Amino acid sequence: MDSIEKYDLVIVGLGPAGATLSYFLRKSGLKVLGIDMVSWDQIWGKPCGDAIGAHHFDETGLPEPRGKELKERVDGILIYSPSEEHVVKVEGKGYMIDRRELGRRIISDAEKGDIEVRLRTQALKPYFEGDLLKGVIVKDLDKNRTYVVKADIVVDATGNSGVIRRRLPEDWPVNEKLKPTDSNIAYREIVELENDIDMPNYIRIYINKEVAPGGYWWFFPEGKNVVNVGLGVQGGRGYPLPTKLFKEKLLRRPELLKRVKVLKAGGSTVPTRRPANTLVWHNFIGIGDNAFTVNPVHGGGMGYAFYAAFLASKTILKAFEMGDFSAKGLWELNISYMRTLGAKQASLDIFRMFLQELSNDEIEFGIRNKIMDAEGAYETSTTGDLKANLSLLDKLAVILKGIKRPLLLLKLAKVAEYMKKAKEHYLKYPEDPVALGKWISELNKIYADFKKDVGISF
Ligand SMILES: Cc1cc2nc3c(=O)[nH]c(=O)nc-3n(C[C@H](O)[C@H](O)[C@H](O)COP(=O)(O)OP(=O)(O)OC[C@H]3O[C@@H](n4cnc5c(N)ncnc54)[C@H](O)[C@@H]3O)c2cc1C
Repeated sequence: MDSIEKYDLVIVGLGPAGATLSYFLRKSGLKVLGIDMVSWDQIWGKPCGDAIGAHHFDETGLPEPRGKELKERVDGILIYSPSEEHVVKVEGKGYMIDRRELGRRIISDAEKGDIEVRLRTQALKPYFEGDLLKGVIVKDLDKNRTYVVKADIVVDATGNSGVIRRRLPEDWPVNEKLKPTDSNIAYREIVELENDIDMPNYIRIYINKEVAPGGYWWFFPEGKNVVNVGLGVQGGRGYPLPTKLFKEKLLRRPELLKRVKVLKAGGSTVPTRRPANTLVWHNFIGIGDNAFTVNPVHGGGMGYAFYAAFLASKTILKAFEMGDFSAKGLWELNISYMRTLGAKQASLDIFRMFLQELSNDEIEFGIRNKIMDAEGAYETSTTGDLKANLSLLDKLAVILKGIKRPLLLLKLAKVAEYMKKAKEHYLKYPEDPVALGKWISELNKIYADFKKDVGISF
């Protein structure tokens, strides 16, 4: 080990979570080091659908994408049934972004403030003094030099790799594993087409278990003749790999027949669950994909990462004011996240599992009969409360003979009940780390009861 350097805070990983945290702390007066193992050219280079709702920028005060950062404006989403005969149109403003351009602008702005950035610097593992997390052991990839960065708070924003979190002691509740069935394996290509795309301001989501089992496939225009097209497949269930499905099912689609060239191709894992039970522990904060701050239904994680980073910046400032970097000193982040987006994630996690168990026929039935219309889909996705046409249930007694799927509707009523329960439990997230164990046991029971009652097999 060559040397020891001392900072107030070290942010490991400068993707959407870490970069925005450094941006929110740029005028904090704290001595902050942000590191990432990639070079400037590869910033925010992880494969992505590149779609993000405009509200994520409004909610956090992050400047919206502009110039080269913005590839296309989004006016709404078209959600297709398995047969594609039925479409739900959800209006809502958003952006198709150039991740690299946006990421680089956010990091440059942070650097103009109090943040020091080192790229090509890989975190190897956490650095402990006795039982206390005191920093990170890092490697300068260009000089092949290993050194210690000491800090009062270590932030893990390394996405799926979770290089710090996974190496924390097993008995720290923040060291939580991602179950494969709580993730999607996703693959996408950015393709230039010969032809112009119809309605380029609407991104399209196709639900079809034969193409994307336990996920969906997407067609997101990034301009008049460039499209980000890909699919996600639920992990841990023995489904075919997304690359195979992409080749066999998507490349034969008429919309993709006139390909000029593939501009980018790649895939990665997407967590699709409720947040980690705690985002903080002693001297530690985890945000972004590594703490599962994502939308469980569509897997979008950039906006959730921004929000977690935004709240983390406030908690960090308070912790430095108080000089308390223990789990208790950082607990405010849990309370602020879990009682807002966390609660929504928790209820959408229930809905996600239910959707993953439905057959194509059942999904078709639901969309055809408008069990959930555009407004319902929008409200469910923004609040986490199931806004389905449950009044159908009231009519059930009368039409039971006529209706083909009473079981589905009854299940849906149960799903709504458990979504509410999960959300309410998160709204009662404990005030103090001491009560976390009890809260987790109660939470696990809600999910176990749900799986049993509704018949979730994974
Ligand atoms: C195919 C696909 C499509 C998606 N589509 C969308 C979408 O349309 N909209 C959306 O909102 N989300 C989408 N997502 C999810 C989104 O990409 C993630 O939620 C988001 O990138 C998470 O940000 P993050 O900062 O937590 O992690 P990451 O983006 O993974 O960033 C982590 C950073 O940490 C760095 N790092 C990792 N390990 C180390 C280490 N040891 N030392 C130093 N640095 C390290 C990495 O280099 C990287 O820069 C998609 C994901 C996939 C895979």
